[in-house]
Amino acid sequence: MKLKGENVKGKNQKNLKEENTSVVLKLIREKSGISRASVVRLTHLTPPTVSRIVSQLMKKGLIWEVIRNTKSVGRKPFSLYLNGPSYYTISVEISYSYINFGIVDLDGKIVEKLNLNTSLNISNNELINLIYKQCKSLLEKYKGSHFLGIGVSSPGMIDSERGIILSVPNFENIANLKVKEELQKLLKLPVLIANDANAEALGEKYFGEGKEAKDFVLLHIGFGIGAGIVMDSKLFHGNFGVSGEIGHVSINYVNGKLCVCGNRGCVELYAGVKEIIKNCSSVANKKYSDLGEIAFDIEHGNEKVKRVVEEDGRLIGEVLISIVNLLAPMKIIISGQVVSFGKYFLEAIKNVIDEKSYYRFGENIQVLFSKLGDDAGIVGAMTVVFDAFLERPLAFL
Ligand SMILES: [Zn+2]
Repeated sequence: MKLKGENVKGKNQKNLKEENTSVVLKLIREKSGISRASVVRLTHLTPPTVSRIVSQLMKKGLIWEVIRNTKSVGRKPFSLYLNGPSYYTISVEISYSYINFGIVDLDGKIVEKLNLNTSLNISNNELINLIYKQCKSLLEKYKGSHFLGIGVSSPGMIDSERGIILSVPNFENIANLKVKEELQKLLKLPVLIANDANAEALGEKYFGEGKEAKDFVLLHIGFGIGAGIVMDSKLFHGNFGVSGEIGHVSINYVNGKLCVCGNRGCVELYAGVKEIIKNCSSVANKKYSDLGEIAFDIEHGNEKVKRVVEEDGRLIGEVLISIVNLLAPMKIIISGQVVSFGKYFLEAIKNVIDEKSYYRFGENIQVLFSKLGDDAGIVGAMTVVFDAFLERPLAFL
């Protein structure tokens, strides 16, 4: 399914209209309660153009306007707001052991969330069918509501432009899965897909720690380690739709462990969740099943385990120095299960960056945990659609 506005005559005029609508909509979202006069002033659009766009967006129910009660004489100013519950997105977060589904509104509020278990043996057809059935039942349940589209976040190599999951490590039977094409055909809604770290970076940009930062890096530490890079308030996609694969930076390319990517010594083989669990289990002489249990023991004074986690933080810090020297982001936001570790994990990362970054400018870079918690994936998948919608609102309406 093509979005409206593709391959039409009068393209330039259409593009201009789309661009102006996008600028106005973004401004109303960012400066909630802004007056029409301020929209005119800040966008440099003419008052009739702003007026036309505002009424069009109001007709669609996307924004609402209230008259502010002021004591001043003359015309009362109008305040404009984005109407969060006016449109929903279906979020699909694919993970190694489960798929999360969510209904999320334009304010990033999760209206409904559900979880299905899956297995690593799942095939292309099974995965598409599972997503299709669940989305269909959600669409039926919310019949009468407006949906912008379906946002999918997935680990692995994703061609987000064409909407294809190229491959996912550990999902051996998933390859070249045309998620966008297949789901759009079945569900008749726009479908957008992104790599999980990229989706989470967008989630942070709109609803998390990235709201105030023009340039930041989201580092997701899970079974793999990946980064989403936002530069000048835009997600950096890279060529071939692949970027931010920081988990495959080698920390020992001579004698290191062999990675699925074909190289040796990739950092995710040493600092990923699996490795943390293995190393902590070994020093504590017990079998941990997740990071929450490890965090609990550290809180209760297990110094040996704490040292393993701090060592992991230092490894992460070593790899982040390259990112800091290369991009000089304002913030580094860390997400994934490691968020359950406390300050000591962040400090271990931060100390390395402070000590070793070029000219020590790393001292000015904030390193912090994502606050979106367990919702980071669902909100991230929503923002894959939301980001595209804010750029080209008319194509979705
Ligand atoms: Zn690798």
